[in-house]
Amino acid sequence: MTEELFLNDSYVREFETSVVRLEGREVVLDRTAFYPGGGGQPPDKGSLGIGPVKANVVDARREGGEIVHVLDRAIPDTVRDLKGALDWERRFSHMRYHTALHVLSGVIWRNFDAKVTGGQMRAGRARMDFSFPGEWTADVVGEIERLTNEALSEERPVRVYELEREEALANPDLIRTQVNLVPERVKTIRIVEIEGLDTQADGGTHVANTREVGGMEITGHKSKGRQNKRIEFVLR
Ligand SMILES: [Zn+2]
Repeated sequence: MTEELFLNDSYVREFETSVVRLEGREVVLDRTAFYPGGGGQPPDKGSLGIGPVKANVVDARREGGEIVHVLDRAIPDTVRDLKGALDWERRFSHMRYHTALHVLSGVIWRNFDAKVTGGQMRAGRARMDFSFPGEWTADVVGEIERLTNEALSEERPVRVYELEREEALANPDLIRTQVNLVPERVKTIRIVEIEGLDTQADGGTHVANTREVGGMEITGHKSKGRQNKRIEFVLR
């Protein structure tokens, strides 16, 4: 099992670690701050090294209870202890966009009774799909942008904690976001709560307060069917 440092503290950007297994350009560590991707958030990049030994982490993925880091070059198999460093600018951008997506999700539920069906973020843009019951006009999209920016500027704390499965399944906010789809073997569920707005089962990394997101601007919107709508946005 890799200890996943980002689950408790998404602001860890440098860490000390030890090699558990090294195969070619792939390395498993005993602990890591590299997010392996998932929930619409891309895997982290960065570097691993010690002394003159250094390699870039170009990809990461979860395999069972382990996180596999993919390096741009092999490192000597005698190396045991390493220092890891994230490409922080990129990761912090993912955090801002991920929290923005949850705020957007909370707003369209609260104000429009619309449910999210999918979302994806990159370092400089994001998109969200949802099932929207009403007319899909430029006015509505403008209103979504205004309400989302208002919610972001309210400096809402973002809390991360765990709930027992039974407790999570009984929470109406979590039922809305389909917490029942979390595999049954998962007994404790990680919750990301944006105070007063949105509560979801989530494994990603977020900022601690919506003020860190800044403002959002919707750059595109389209209708992908009678109910299926998409919004694309950037952060300022
Ligand atoms: Zn999420």
